[in-house]
Amino acid sequence: MKGSRILVVEDEEKIAEIVKAYLKKEGFQVVVAKTGEKALSVLKDGFDVVILDLMLPDIAGEDICQTIRKDSDIPVIMLTAKSEEEDRIKGLGIGADDYVVKPFSPRELVARVKALLRRVKGPGENLIFNKGDLVIDPSRFEITKNSSPLVLTPTEFKLLHCIAQRPGQVFTRLQLVNVILGYDFEGYDRTIDAHIKNIRHKIEDDPRSPAYIKTVYGIGYKFIGQPHED
Ligand code: CA
Repeated sequence: MKGSRILVVEDEEKIAEIVKAYLKKEGFQVVVAKTGEKALSVLKDGFDVVILDLMLPDIAGEDICQTIRKDSDIPVIMLTAKSEEEDRIKGLGIGADDYVVKPFSPRELVARVKALLRRVKGPGENLIFNKGDLVIDPSRFEITKNSSPLVLTPTEFKLLHCIAQRPGQVFTRLQLVNVILGYDFEGYDRTIDAHIKNIRHKIEDDPRSPAYIKTVYGIGYKFIGQPHED
């Protein structure tokens, strides 16, 4: 994890300096971009995590996130003063993996960066469901549906992989928050619904009548795909 490359997109110099200092203390390599244009031009240098402020002088953070998602599944943490739940859900809907509201604790931000780095690493066996309809390949972070590859964000992949490893088990939203963040964070559970909705749109033939992820009312979710028997 040490030496991972983090891109911090933030126009407020003070915040950028603090975030940079905390990340460097953990042994990360940090590049700061003060404009959206700069961020998009340095992205091709290759980064492990992007920390993205939404209020930038030139390009909206949301637009940058969407541009990144066109050809990359690099983890993105949005950093913003927008604290409304709808903004959070919108941020996750356009492919952000996590969302930190200003003012924030730099230590919490570092914890979230580490959680993201941990979750994008870690191999495992293929999981095959419903007679090969859905295949999850954790070593390559690939999902195929009906033999066609699907693009999931790292967060969506992590959630799906977690629940698919234990078909039939009910997961509470708070447990799933822990899966994606590495720790419990109350108030975050509605965002799980947004992630699940995205995953359903990708893997379900009919999201309203799911064959894979069932809602357990008042509690959370469970995976109901039929595991492949050898
Ligand atoms: Ca800003």
